[in-house]
Amino acid sequence: MAAEHMKSWNIGNVEVTRIVELNNHTDPLNFLLSDGSPELMKKYDWLFPNFATPEGDMIISFQCFVVKTPDRKIMVDTCVGNERWREHEVFVNMQTSFLEDIAKAGCPPESIDTVLCTHLHFDHVGWNTRKVGDKWVPTFPNARYLFSKKEWEHWKKVPRDGTVQAQHLIDSIQPVLDAKLTDFVESDHRICKEIRLIPTPGHTPGHVSIHISSEGKDAVITGDLLHHPIQMAEPDLPGNFCMDAQHACKTRRKFLEDYENKKAFIIGSHFCDPTGGWIIRDKRNWRFEKGM
Ligand SMILES: [Zn+2]
Repeated sequence: MAAEHMKSWNIGNVEVTRIVELNNHTDPLNFLLSDGSPELMKKYDWLFPNFATPEGDMIISFQCFVVKTPDRKIMVDTCVGNERWREHEVFVNMQTSFLEDIAKAGCPPESIDTVLCTHLHFDHVGWNTRKVGDKWVPTFPNARYLFSKKEWEHWKKVPRDGTVQAQHLIDSIQPVLDAKLTDFVESDHRICKEIRLIPTPGHTPGHVSIHISSEGKDAVITGDLLHHPIQMAEPDLPGNFCMDAQHACKTRRKFLEDYENKKAFIIGSHFCDPTGGWIIRDKRNWRFEKGM
């Protein structure tokens, strides 16, 4: 495993390890934000070189996090997964060392007690399952899979109509439901002493972020409340992949206000290395300060 695929942070007694599935993927910024452009990216020199190419395209990663408390092992999101049929070429039939990577991080699949999906988009639920023969089976047989009730209210109504958009429901969600490993929880659910959910709706109806608190230290794993650090400087630009973009913008601005100036260490679910850092007030808006 390449060194950049794995990185850990300690938040008091809690260890968070990043497992990267697809590193440093580039796309034009307007793929994510309809009003995005290279010129907009170049307004913020702190985005370079980690989060933007010299030409002003965005760089993002697809990754998940293993969270170890003194007595729990929790997967936060589960990436895209191998051998899938997906809309975008880059995600079709992926073949990565994800399962070996989490084992190397000290968390083989059987050791995971909780899987928490921040929301049910395909790039956050893939490794919920793996393919054995021609069947999809839960990857984490000893875990409870936690989905937000509100999130499921939406997805359960989406038709399983054979289109590519419904595929992840069939191969990554339904097998977990069939195995009765799912618990539907409130969007402010507490998983254990150190870990709780915070509701961050808009990107999807029941989207949640993860708050970690231990020994006086705080951190948040964002999920898709933020896709790219430029959204700290431009929180009000609507995202193309948000189901309710206006609501997502409001949620994002409130979050940035609540956590500005180092109230919590921020771990961005799609942020490239170093992935973690701080929200720093910068006039009307904010910037990302890389850290740890
Ligand atoms: Zn995502």
